[in-house]
Amino acid sequence: MIPDENFIQIPGVPGPTKEEIRCLVMCKAQISNSDVVVDVGCGSSGMTAESALRARKVYAIDKNPDAVKLTQKNLKQHGISEKVQLIEGDALEILDELQGFDILLVGGSNGDLPLIISLGYEKLKKGGKIIVSSILIESRVEAVDTLKKLGMEPEIIEIFIAKGKIISRGTMMMGRNPITIISAIKGSK
Ligand code: SAH
Repeated sequence: MIPDENFIQIPGVPGPTKEEIRCLVMCKAQISNSDVVVDVGCGSSGMTAESALRARKVYAIDKNPDAVKLTQKNLKQHGISEKVQLIEGDALEILDELQGFDILLVGGSNGDLPLIISLGYEKLKKGGKIIVSSILIESRVEAVDTLKKLGMEPEIIEIFIAKGKIISRGTMMMGRNPITIISAIKGSK
């Protein structure tokens, strides 16, 4: 995993997803070097960069031009730009233009999560995976409902991480925001 501090961050662009969370998403995604990955909402490149270290090809989509620029910068810094195609635009339009892929990561949706999942499902190869990282309770429900409607059997894990901060009297555990990872395999049912 790439340490959090190795990513360039700028105000106005969320991410990178914290290292421990990236670790669990990658664990669920099980990306192989023959896989094509689509990362919806590349933000600061957290998930895109981890995917690029494992996959054959990564399509990184973000509707925020600053996020696309920052992702490009971060990938360059890590020397992993080669496999990544950056696409600026709304996933709702972009997903339709892509060919079949093996793994869909969704880290941002702007209220269109059901549609993004449904569009992604259409293009997802059989045996492929959808993995949604969600911080809002509403999107968790939307993701689970949509995946179930598509005939998938989602697995839901919620993660609470606390990281130790060394202070003068000892180590204080600092809680991070809980995050839910919802994953499903196409053709599992
Ligand atoms: N996974 C990223 C952080 C994602 S933050 C990382 O680890 O760095 C969520 C991102 O999703 C934001 O940059 C936002 O612009 C993008 N986003 C939200 N809805 C979108 C949509 N419909 N299409 C494309 N990008 C979207």
